[in-house]
Amino acid sequence: MKKLIIALLFVIILGGCNMFDDRNEIDKNDFDLINHDVNDYDINTYYLDVVLDEENDKLYVTGEIIYINDKTDFNELYITLYPNADEFVSLDNVDIDYIKINGLEVEYEVVGYDYTQIHIDLEYTLEKDDNFSIEFKYNFEYWDYGRLMALGDYYLTMFFYPFLSMYDDEGWNIDPFTFHGESYYNDIGDYYVTLNVRDDFLVATSGKLLFEDNEDGRLIKYLYLEDGRDFSFSASPNYFYYEEVINERLFKIYSVRELENYEADNSFKYMEDTFNLFEEYVGEYYYDYFTLEYGYYYGMESSGVVYCSADISEGTVVHEVIHQWFYSMIGNDQSDESFLDESLTTFVSGIYFLDVYGIEGANDYYGYRTSLSERFEERYQLVLGDSLLRKVDEFEDQYGYLIYYHGVSIFKYYVDEYLGGDYYYFLELLSHYYDEYNGDTASIEEFLVLLERESGVDITKEWFELQIGEVQDLSNTP
Ligand SMILES: [Zn+2]
Repeated sequence: MKKLIIALLFVIILGGCNMFDDRNEIDKNDFDLINHDVNDYDINTYYLDVVLDEENDKLYVTGEIIYINDKTDFNELYITLYPNADEFVSLDNVDIDYIKINGLEVEYEVVGYDYTQIHIDLEYTLEKDDNFSIEFKYNFEYWDYGRLMALGDYYLTMFFYPFLSMYDDEGWNIDPFTFHGESYYNDIGDYYVTLNVRDDFLVATSGKLLFEDNEDGRLIKYLYLEDGRDFSFSASPNYFYYEEVINERLFKIYSVRELENYEADNSFKYMEDTFNLFEEYVGEYYYDYFTLEYGYYYGMESSGVVYCSADISEGTVVHEVIHQWFYSMIGNDQSDESFLDESLTTFVSGIYFLDVYGIEGANDYYGYRTSLSERFEERYQLVLGDSLLRKVDEFEDQYGYLIYYHGVSIFKYYVDEYLGGDYYYFLELLSHYYDEYNGDTASIEEFLVLLERESGVDITKEWFELQIGEVQDLSNTP
């Protein structure tokens, strides 16, 4: 937040300058891959030089991570790199050129059953509180589906770069990639990305475009993302582009099909209303820009950008936008504790419908989202006693039902029963969650401690733990 305030002051001092223009703070040299002094940093920082090879559907990445080691003394490292994790076949999709630690090339082994972990046995100790550098060069091929999708001239590129695997109370988080939840767990960081694409491409991305060069039929985009949970982009020469400035924030839409006027207007409205609600009740959004992509993906959140299907769904757009609060700004372990980001986001999406459409809108939304509805009767009996505290991959077929329906019912029951059905009050409680954890990560335990403290409802933590530890029959639960 400090940097945001400084940036704001800067804009005020310079008066007339374009508020979407950060060039006075950062210049092109700041994107260089060389000469970084690791001691200059206080946040994990990613330098990525990315070249899209449209002929061969490949991505070439050279880069460096400056890692702020506030975790422990490391004698070994795990680096997560996801582009080997294909749902169907390939395991050697990534071709690694080198990995260097503090400038020296190291031996490594690619491990894990989906080959997404790069393991390095260090011959020395990387001590706590000493920053270190990880340099890398690799390339990989796109598939024609999923989060690394090439469809003709269309490219979706998510979770494509390495990051030091999360090291927390449980040690290394080196779970395989999960295809149900597309789980991701990382600290926030700053990103300096140069992206090289064919010069007829439009790019939807997490980052803010600061500079652009046009050389020999190629565009080089200088993209900057501050305090991002992840960085991603999609690219296509066939996008239809729309933009609108709303409350001094630049909203952009990239769509693979032309939108009717009312569709574009509605889409901006979905974003505007969601931002208004969550900024008013929960907390300020970090960036003065936001991008919605309508493409070939069903709905996926990323810092500063969301990817939704071109078959527009209001609920999906709203859900993905809310993830800017409960994923991007407040992170969590999406693999082990999907209840915290997904059930919460899905529940509070209903408050958007309450806000925009009134009680009927909320009833429609929650009527559809309740795990207790008649259409789920058999399913409900089947999951009684099941835990919502499993790793995403261990839910198997019940993941969607338990997290996106029953998790919502748990929150709704709590607000109706213990908070007098006051949904706005629940959002206000979440502002304390935001104040304490934005820019950081939280666990379910931390969330519940906070919710109990702020609500003053002294059964909160115990009640939630009972509900998510073993599915109870909510139709007759005290
Ligand atoms: Zn979600």
